[in-house]
Amino acid sequence: MLEIHQFPCLSDNYGFLVHDPDSQETVCIDTPEANAYLREAAVKGWQITQIWNTHWHPDHAGGNAAIKAATGCTVSGPAEVERIGPLDRVLTPGDTVTIGEHEGTVFDVGGHTNGHIAIHLPDDEVAFVGDSVFALGCGRMFEGTAEQFWASLQRIKALPPATMLYCAHEYTQSNARFALHADPDNAELQDYVAEIDQRRSRQEPTVPTKLERELATNPFLRADTDDLQARWGGGAAHETFAALRAAKDSF
Ligand code: ZN
Ligand code: FE
Repeated sequence: MLEIHQFPCLSDNYGFLVHDPDSQETVCIDTPEANAYLREAAVKGWQITQIWNTHWHPDHAGGNAAIKAATGCTVSGPAEVERIGPLDRVLTPGDTVTIGEHEGTVFDVGGHTNGHIAIHLPDDEVAFVGDSVFALGCGRMFEGTAEQFWASLQRIKALPPATMLYCAHEYTQSNARFALHADPDNAELQDYVAEIDQRRSRQEPTVPTKLERELATNPFLRADTDDLQARWGGGAAHETFAALRAAKDSF
């Protein structure tokens, strides 16, 4: 069983260290802040052996060089990461990454950035999704198109419902305000938001989140449902998704 250590970085990112006790390998999922990763690994007594990047943004790959220099680890990520620094291995959708005996599948979640990838470790029922999907939200569409982003979200929706989604930011409370505006009659959403508000009042993280719950409550995953289409425009689901994304951008 993998151990996942989660800790806050920068203003609202999460850092994740994934450790395999059998092989003693430790993977950094993205690198928002090199010092925080090096410190947390030292506290755990873990040796960092790899970095897996989800996309090129500096709050995800900005710590690569310093962590590699300090540990000699390898850096794997989508080709777009080379905009800000070198990779040892370029990951493309369909590739497999490994930590010890544990395999992760790389899949395309482009839309926030064009080359954004996510990594699913099926045996451990976890997926590292970067800024593609958040609890009750999704990433801003900086580079991609609505059609592309919607297709990416379909790949996330197709994971086993028990999958825990490790999103890269604690944006949930503000996402929740928009989700209630987008889908006000959703009782399950109302319960979820009440729980989120309680957890945040105790300063607890709302990440990871279970896919099953997001499928029932996250408006961006539900752009193809009658409820959302009635409110946000029918037609192709990616058009409803685009309307929701645009509304959230100025909410
Ligand atoms: Zn980003
Ligand atoms: Fe980010």
